[in-house]
Amino acid sequence: PTGEPPEPLHRVVGNNYAPDNPQSNRINATLLSLVRNEELNDMLQSMRDLERTWNHKFNYPWTFLNDVPFTEEFKTKIRAATKAEVRFDVVPKAHWDVPSWINNDLYLESTALLKEQEVQYSDKISYHQMCRWNSGLFYHHPALANYRYYWRVEPKVHFFCAVDYDVFRYMQDHNKTYGFTINLYDSPQSITTLWPETMKFLGDHPEYLHKNNAFDWLRDATRRPDHNMKANGYSTCHFWSNFEIADMEFWRSRPYEEYFKHLDRAGGFFYERWGDAPVHSIALGLFEDKERIHWFRDIGYQHIPFFNCPNSPKCKGCVTGRFTDGEAWLNREDCRPNWFKFVG
Ligand code: GDP
Ligand code: MN
Repeated sequence: PTGEPPEPLHRVVGNNYAPDNPQSNRINATLLSLVRNEELNDMLQSMRDLERTWNHKFNYPWTFLNDVPFTEEFKTKIRAATKAEVRFDVVPKAHWDVPSWINNDLYLESTALLKEQEVQYSDKISYHQMCRWNSGLFYHHPALANYRYYWRVEPKVHFFCAVDYDVFRYMQDHNKTYGFTINLYDSPQSITTLWPETMKFLGDHPEYLHKNNAFDWLRDATRRPDHNMKANGYSTCHFWSNFEIADMEFWRSRPYEEYFKHLDRAGGFFYERWGDAPVHSIALGLFEDKERIHWFRDIGYQHIPFFNCPNSPKCKGCVTGRFTDGEAWLNREDCRPNWFKFVG
C-alpha cells in the first residue's frame, strides 16, 4: 500500500497558521462544501470533526456553495464553528440548470427503468444535476477562481484522527493531484454507457492517455466480473468522491475539460445516473500519472456506511481496519485491494 509518512516540513511551526496571518504557511487551498440549507446540523457535525482533528491548527478557509441562497441562520451557525475565514456563495444558474440538449421525455423514460433496477436517486433530478456539477463545473465557480487545491467535505461525515501536518502542503510538495480515503465498486446500472463513451473519446484523443496510467486498474475484472460485464468493460472501481483532496489544475486541464464536454453531450448524467466519482476516477486513471494519486491512510473517515480506519493511537472512535458498520455483504464493496494491486 501507498502512503508514506509525512515529513517534518509539514508540521505546524509557531503561529504561522493564524487565520488572519497574511504570511501564513497556508497554500492556496480551501475546504469546500456543496450543501443544502436543510443540512445545517449535519454540516456542523462534519465541520466540528474536521476542525477538531485538523483545521483548528491550520485555519484553511471554508467555501460553502448552494444552488439557492444560504439562510442567515445557516451562515451564522457555520461561521461560529470555525476561526477560519468562511465564504458563502450561490452556484451560477447556467452551471446548475439541466442543459438544453437533454430531452425531458427521454429523461423520464430512462430513469423510470433505472428506478426499477433500484439505482439510488435515479428519479431525483437534483441528484443528477449535483453529479454533473461535481463532475465538470464546480472548479469554474468564481469563488474558487484563485484556489488551486480543495478538500471536499460533505454534511454528516466523520473524521476520527488527529492529523498534525498541513495536508494541502503535503499534496503540493509531493506533486500529488488527487487524494482519497475509500475505494468502492459502483452500481453498474448507473453507468452502463460511461465506459463505451469514454472509449469513443479516447479513440479520438489517444494522445491524452498518460504513459503511466492506471488503465489496468480501471478494467480489472478479477474480483467482480459481473460488474465489469454490466458496465461494459469498466470494473466500476472508483475513489469515493464525498472525500477528495485534489488539485483543480487537473480538472481545468484540456484533456479533462474535453472529456467532460464529451460526456455531457452524450447525456448520461441524465439518461443514466453517472456519478462524479466514476467520472473523476476514470479520468484520473487515464489522463494522470498514477503515482500522483495518494491514499490518505492516516485520515480516519466515515461517510455512511463506510469507513477508513487507520491503526493509530491518534484515532478515536474508529475501529481499526473496519470497513463498514452496515450489513456484512457491504464488505464486498471494498475496492481498495484492486488499487493496491496495480499501484500500491
Ligand atoms: P450521497 O452521498 O450520494 O448520498 O448524496 P448526498 O445527498 O450526500 O449529496 C452529495 C453532496 O451534494 C452533499 O454535500 C449534499 O449536501 C450535496 N447536494 C446534493 N443535492 C444537492 C442539491 O440539490 N443542492 C445542494 N445545494 N446541495 C446538494
Ligand atoms: Mn453524502
